[in-house]
Amino acid sequence: MFSSRFSSIKSSIFLRLNSPKSELLYPNILAPWLILIPLATESEVRIEEKLPGPTFTIIEKLLSIVVLFFLKKSKILLTSISLFSILVCNFCLKKLLSIFKPIESFVPVQFIIKKFSIIFLLVSIFLVSNTSYSASQYVDDKGIITIMYHRFNENKYPSTNIRMKDFNNHIELIRKAKISFINPKDYKKSLEIDKNKKKILLTIDDAFLSFYENAWPILQKEKIPFILFVSTREVGQFNYMTWEQIREIAKEDFVHIGNHSHSHEYMVNWKPKEIKEDLKKSITIFKKEIGYNSNFFSYPFGEYSLAFKKIVKDLGFEYAFGQHSGVSDISKDLFELPRFPINEKYGESERFSFILNTLPLKYKKILPEEKYINKNNNPPNVSIEFFDEYKNLKLINCYSNEENKWRKSTIKFLSTNKIQIILDGKFTTERGRINCSLRNSDGSWRWLGMQFVIAEL
Ligand SMILES: [Zn+2]
Repeated sequence: MFSSRFSSIKSSIFLRLNSPKSELLYPNILAPWLILIPLATESEVRIEEKLPGPTFTIIEKLLSIVVLFFLKKSKILLTSISLFSILVCNFCLKKLLSIFKPIESFVPVQFIIKKFSIIFLLVSIFLVSNTSYSASQYVDDKGIITIMYHRFNENKYPSTNIRMKDFNNHIELIRKAKISFINPKDYKKSLEIDKNKKKILLTIDDAFLSFYENAWPILQKEKIPFILFVSTREVGQFNYMTWEQIREIAKEDFVHIGNHSHSHEYMVNWKPKEIKEDLKKSITIFKKEIGYNSNFFSYPFGEYSLAFKKIVKDLGFEYAFGQHSGVSDISKDLFELPRFPINEKYGESERFSFILNTLPLKYKKILPEEKYINKNNNPPNVSIEFFDEYKNLKLINCYSNEENKWRKSTIKFLSTNKIQIILDGKFTTERGRINCSLRNSDGSWRWLGMQFVIAEL
């Protein structure tokens, strides 16, 4: 109860100031500073009186209790522990100072010690402020759930299709769960602010005619924002949308047309120069047909290599989506953003509700960084280093599809926050996948997916 009210206070502060910089005024960060004010004033008063050191005043004690209460309630245990140790440290220093007798000749030394202790406290509190920033960033952040659709009501293609009754049901489930649709135009802001609010982004790849005919009328009527990823070579072909239709939907403020390459081939196998040429061609066509090129890119088949990623970055895109499942958040590589692929099999109510209940599983680093795997590094040596805040990391489960068979992977803890995923054999299909999940006590799931492209089989 208190926690949720506290969350809403935080969001209202965010909303009012509406800028990431305003996080300096975040209560968790502001609160520790409050301790310092009476402390600093108190010290100066005592020096003038030539008394050795201040003791805790009632105001200081009350403030400390309030601060600790706030931090505990907001579940930032790490911060409250650090803050608590600083308070203890501060208390010890003061006690130490108070054993000095007020001898005239010692006063300058005591003065210096006091000044140092104030500087020490200032630095410590600044460090704690930063800790509380990152801790709050990780604990509260619900991320952006991104959904990927392809075809609508084209029941001959079950692996890329969604039936309309299921699609309608998805919209209803999202509404019921009170998850807000984000406008792609506000993508950066949505990642950075209101992290304790659940958000969703719809994306549709390939611009099939079936999207225009079946899903567009619903999205248009309800003004639901989305990104439509277009491959420029396919526009106007049989069963694909035309430029006229794309221009028609692009007029709406809640619609964004994203870039999905020109040719939509298995480009990850191409030479960097060829990939670049293909993307440049799509950019030229985008500018000619709709007047701009998108800052969003979607890798064809969700496949990328380090070289491909660099090309996308160099061409001025700001975000690139793959097809590995997971929840986007501010700590993710913006050129390897995850999406939950939806099709007939995975579009059913139960599975979709599960997706709506996922949270980001944040990590410091995943190795190997190169997701493009050849003969020499198959199976890859996969390790994930997590942030320290997941206290239940021992409960993590991973599943992988080596030898084309899904199985529970063997996990080896290399340290308290670093795991190695031991694969039983080689990846023998075009895409090697690993999905890891961590169940929270409230029933939600933290989710992290990886997709490797297997170059040589
Ligand atoms: Zn595609």
